[in-house]
Amino acid sequence: MGLAIAPKLFPVDSNEATPEPALTDGFHLVIDALKLNGINTIYGVPGIPITDLGRKMQACGMRVISFRHEQNAGNAAAIAGFINKAPGVCLTVSAPGFLNGLTALANATTNCFPMILISGSSEREIVDLQQGDYEEMDQLAIAKPLCKAAFRVLHACDIGIAVARAYRAAVSGRPGGVYLDLPAKLFSQTMDALEGQKSLVKVIDAAPAQIPAPAAIQRALDVLKTAQRPLIVLGKGAAYAQADEAVRALVERSGIPYVPMSMAKGLLPDTHPQSAGAARSLVLKDADVVLLVGARLNWLLSHGKGKTWGAPGSKKFIQIDIEPKEMDSNVEIVAPVVGDIGSCVEALLAGMGHDWPAAPAAWIATVNAKKQENASKMAAKLAKIKSPMDFHGALGVLKTVIANRPDAMLVNEGANTLDLARGIIDMYQPRKRLDVGTWGIMGIGMGFAVAAAVETGKPVLAIEGDSAFGFSGMEVETICRYNLPVCIVVFNNNGIYRGTDTDPTGKDLAPTVFVQGARYDKMMEAFGGVGVNATTPDELLRAVNEAMDSGKPTLINAVIDPAAGTESGNIGSLNPQSVIGKK
Ligand code: ADP
Ligand code: MG
Repeated sequence: MGLAIAPKLFPVDSNEATPEPALTDGFHLVIDALKLNGINTIYGVPGIPITDLGRKMQACGMRVISFRHEQNAGNAAAIAGFINKAPGVCLTVSAPGFLNGLTALANATTNCFPMILISGSSEREIVDLQQGDYEEMDQLAIAKPLCKAAFRVLHACDIGIAVARAYRAAVSGRPGGVYLDLPAKLFSQTMDALEGQKSLVKVIDAAPAQIPAPAAIQRALDVLKTAQRPLIVLGKGAAYAQADEAVRALVERSGIPYVPMSMAKGLLPDTHPQSAGAARSLVLKDADVVLLVGARLNWLLSHGKGKTWGAPGSKKFIQIDIEPKEMDSNVEIVAPVVGDIGSCVEALLAGMGHDWPAAPAAWIATVNAKKQENASKMAAKLAKIKSPMDFHGALGVLKTVIANRPDAMLVNEGANTLDLARGIIDMYQPRKRLDVGTWGIMGIGMGFAVAAAVETGKPVLAIEGDSAFGFSGMEVETICRYNLPVCIVVFNNNGIYRGTDTDPTGKDLAPTVFVQGARYDKMMEAFGGVGVNATTPDELLRAVNEAMDSGKPTLINAVIDPAAGTESGNIGSLNPQSVIGKK
């Protein structure tokens, strides 16, 4: 590794009798420490005190992707972490920039994405005495409860160890977000270059394998063997683990139907004969043994209880997870298997041997019948051609786009746009579907799209509700600036959920309604990208295909019937409603 020693600190006169020792400084130590650990891409927003750090990073060969808002840069770093199984790094300025990045850090931690947020901060002495420094804020204290670990570095000689700790904390065990606080003064601190080099730490075995106990594997297999109606649930932890072959072997050798959680779609192709995605409600309700692989029984799985899961006590859960505390978090786990997914699945496969009994035929037949019934209902909806389009008509054509380009990256957010796209668009390869995750957060769209393009080099299709897009829409400039192969389709139904609400007093538009007939495509044109207004499925298909082929930054304003959506998409039941004086 070449050291990035500050050039101006070298002795200039080679005739000098006793040359001064070569020096390095905080800027260069941060760069060297990151590069030593394989971090070569930074997502951020420049400003005091990290502007020069960004410049020097670029000069030292790192890729510095500069955003318009820190939250989007943070989301980009987080999803880079998910894609690569290594921390993505976001760099921000102090107080407000740090706070903007913090939402992404908290979201990364919630989703188990490895990420490091590095923020410059003001002087400790002044912050601690609360003497009113420029952008004064005790950032470390604020970050701590929102991430896995938080560290502050006061001395240049500690930068190496701090970066190593941050890296290890982000990826080991259950992955998550880490905060690294770098006060302004640190960057210009100097030290002997050789000593500096020695202070750097390259993390060895950052996410060590965690081997499950043999007794836990046996217990799990014993439970699985008794099942009459077994089911496997694959979560995004399974996708993250990059144990794709082992997971596939487990599913296929067991013959058990599986449902993928949203971001686990494509781990096995959604068209796999054992996929029970199209019979999701039935299998969750009727299964008697459920094997969870990197999926939590949180709200997205109705906490493992209630009518989604059928009669109380009708299920036994086996759970594979790297986090022991996850077990029994909602319901009893009769066979906890704690370890990394690769090791756990390999151990299960070894225990199953090659004469594992086939999954019960009656159950498979029931699941398949339901799948076929639901699939033909859906096909009829997708084929309807309307103008303005409804969600199904528009998504029907996007489904074919991904079927023809299975290696494209798909980003998806919104309410109806999210729920329907998740069900309708089949995925064929692992870690291609990036979405709102555990929190169902809006605003991940453009950050995820930028990182998906930068990290994979593949074309990106971002399917965005018009409201969701608004949270990060200014990043279309970033997409154009870096000339990224991103095609954004804005599902424009003039509002949040729908565009038809009215203000009963007649003064304003309803709080859920946007400007009628808005032309989001013009935003992309403003920065030199391609804008298209699509009013029919045919127009939409043509425009998306062109964008995916050309790789030109493109935004398609897909005109959707304002009356087409439903309140809160699939999760309307979470919406408290007043019973007094409705409307
Ligand atoms: P989903 O929303 O797709 O169901 P979750 O985010 O709820 O997925 O669950 C992911 C789970 O995967 C978390 O409990 C996390 O601890 C676990 N996990 C993440 N990486 C690994 C890994 N390498 N090995 C085992 N478990 C993992
Ligand atoms: Mg909308």
